[in-house]
Amino acid sequence: MKESEKGQALRHREMVETLRRYGIADQRVLDAFQKVQRHLFFERDATDSAYDDGAYSIGFGQTISQPYTVAYMTTLLVERVPSGKVLEIGTGSGYQAAILDALGYSVFTIERIVELYERAVKLFSRLGLNITCRFGDGTLGWDDEAPFDGIVVTAGAPGEPKLLMCQLAENGSMIIPLGNAALQEMTVMTREGDMFRREVFQRFSFVPLVGREGWHNTVF
Ligand code: SAH
Repeated sequence: MKESEKGQALRHREMVETLRRYGIADQRVLDAFQKVQRHLFFERDATDSAYDDGAYSIGFGQTISQPYTVAYMTTLLVERVPSGKVLEIGTGSGYQAAILDALGYSVFTIERIVELYERAVKLFSRLGLNITCRFGDGTLGWDDEAPFDGIVVTAGAPGEPKLLMCQLAENGSMIIPLGNAALQEMTVMTREGDMFRREVFQRFSFVPLVGREGWHNTVF
């Protein structure tokens, strides 16, 4: 192993320890973070910060979410929906989708920026990951593949996307940051028959969910 790879492996282990220290306690989630190499989801010349607990630019005004944020959302999902079919909205770098794949979910993901979609398709294929990608407005969901046991929205929404909620299976949960453009509350909507149970957790700041049932303003 090269010296630089040793350093990277060490920083990777430290990142997982940091997540544990910050309160991520589910061992399945921590194991998935140890399994997926985050630097593979960065541009080749920007991998130095890959194991810092930060959000970084992936171009087109978008970011790869902070590991803590990804771990927090993933924990909310794993605790409610330990296995099954999961739809992610906002493929971005592909990191969250790869974490879901490492946990054994059958993963579907939608991205609205074509360059990011194409980059993710290539990356998943290179890494041999069986993740199904789609280009388009994720707020409309993926009718042909519904229902989903879990839906993870990785961009901030102004309100509940009703079409997406209808694509949840019975007892399925949607993890979604809801709020204004600057700050959102992590929210879990769980389907119970025709009703949805709502739980609200801590605040985060995401890039906006832009689409028919998201923000209409693309000036962000
Ligand atoms: N899950 C990503 C986070 C990327 S940031 C990761 O792990 O890297 C959020 C992403 O959501 C951006 O790439 C943005 O283009 C995308 N996005 C925003 N609105 C969307 C929509 N309506 N449908 C699909 N993708 C959307």
